[in-house]
Amino acid sequence: MDPHQFESVIPRSEYRDFLDLADRGARQLHGRVIWNVNSTAQGGGVVELLRPLLGYARGSGVDARWVVISGNPEFFVITKRLHNHLHGADGDGGALTREEQRVYEGALAGNAAELVGLVQPNDVVILHDPQTAGLIDAVRTTGAAVIWRCHVGLDHGNALARVAWDFLRPYVLDADGYVFSRAAYVWDGLAQERIAVIQPSIDVFSPKNAEQSVAQRLSILSRAGIVPQRATVAPTFTRCDGTPGRVDRTAEMRQLAPLSPEDRVITQVSRWDALKDPIGVMSGFADHVAGRSGAHLLLAGPATAAVSDDPEGAAVYAEVDAAWQRLPAEVRRRVHLASLPMADTDENAAIVDALQRYADVVVQKSIAEGFGLTVAEAMWKERPVVASRVGGIQDQIVDGESGVLISDPHDLRAFGTAVAELLVDGDRARRIGAAARERVREHFLGPRHLAQYLKLIQRLDTRDRESLTRRRSRSPRPPGAH
Ligand code: UDP
Repeated sequence: MDPHQFESVIPRSEYRDFLDLADRGARQLHGRVIWNVNSTAQGGGVVELLRPLLGYARGSGVDARWVVISGNPEFFVITKRLHNHLHGADGDGGALTREEQRVYEGALAGNAAELVGLVQPNDVVILHDPQTAGLIDAVRTTGAAVIWRCHVGLDHGNALARVAWDFLRPYVLDADGYVFSRAAYVWDGLAQERIAVIQPSIDVFSPKNAEQSVAQRLSILSRAGIVPQRATVAPTFTRCDGTPGRVDRTAEMRQLAPLSPEDRVITQVSRWDALKDPIGVMSGFADHVAGRSGAHLLLAGPATAAVSDDPEGAAVYAEVDAAWQRLPAEVRRRVHLASLPMADTDENAAIVDALQRYADVVVQKSIAEGFGLTVAEAMWKERPVVASRVGGIQDQIVDGESGVLISDPHDLRAFGTAVAELLVDGDRARRIGAAARERVREHFLGPRHLAQYLKLIQRLDTRDRESLTRRRSRSPRPPGAH
């Protein structure tokens, strides 16, 4: 991916700094591979981050690569449990003891052997999230610098989070650097000098965020079976690799009747995950929005069979469906569940882009959120966003200026009222939307993110050199040496 694309979206001086940095990075990292390791090639925020960062790094001449580990179902049940605990929630309520550690290590052993065979001593390996923490020890034996990046966390560590920290700490301690998305997420007991705080970013040129004309967006939603209507243009978009793509698959809709083009729509796009609180969104809509406006609610997420490292998706979707069936018929008619096709990642992204752009108000009523890319995505599209004041969402939205934050994510009345007010006050919604885009431009784009990564790698290199010099100066002189 060509870093020159940023010329059109960031101020001139920042753009020049970015090109300089890309150039310096390529020279400094020449001959080294920057490996990224995670546990799924599609679905979720980490994938969304990795693709463009790798793309722009490679486009700048850095040999960045991405490998995905494999795991068995028991492994993913445990890592999802760890994920939930790191968010302060108990998830499936299962244990995280020596026995789970055994299963976790067992599943990673084969991955470790494969990875060690690929990595060279001068390389840098960035391991993402709990699924890969158990690889740190093995990767260190290669001599490469190892960074562990944790994309999840909670604002105030609780007992459940500590259980996950205690489980993971022995694996994580020896990493050369730890990256967290917020300072508040840093665990107890990690070496301060190895910590870096790096916030995520979105790729504004990807099919997820690329500009779409109104006709194109309507055509995509119509072809996907979400808002049926007569299309005037083909449902096309540009793929990540620059080739033309077109939406051909349809979403699976759970609804009494389709949306019509004149309906106003409140949208949340998320994995089917209890921490995204889709049932809370539905109740908030039913109790505090439906009676005050004729708007519809659209909850969209990936078709549940598709996300390999998220075993809870299907069960959460089933609960959402059951709650939908319990809604009074008049409200149920205005609530639509969309399971989006995932077979083609770019196609899925184009549908998400169209959905976010189509929404009158975007919501993200998460109970906990590492960062919440969906928030930045909607903000870039100038949508007014109503979201919970949790995790990284509070770093993105300045309340009342670039979105609306709900202090208590369980306060359905506050949530519904904020949504209803934005629906009636078009001027405020537009003002907030415009400010939201500027906020993303300033803080949440790739150039800032890549610069922070490069700085971290430079820091590790300097430390390496210093410790080598110290070791040399401490070692006794061989006899006869002067
Ligand atoms: N997403 C998607 N298709 C879907 C649902 C979600 O592409 O059907 C994307 C969404 O647009 C965002 C990412 O998945 O880019 C989710 O990242 P976020 O940080 O919001 O939450 P996470 O899933 O990592 O908890």
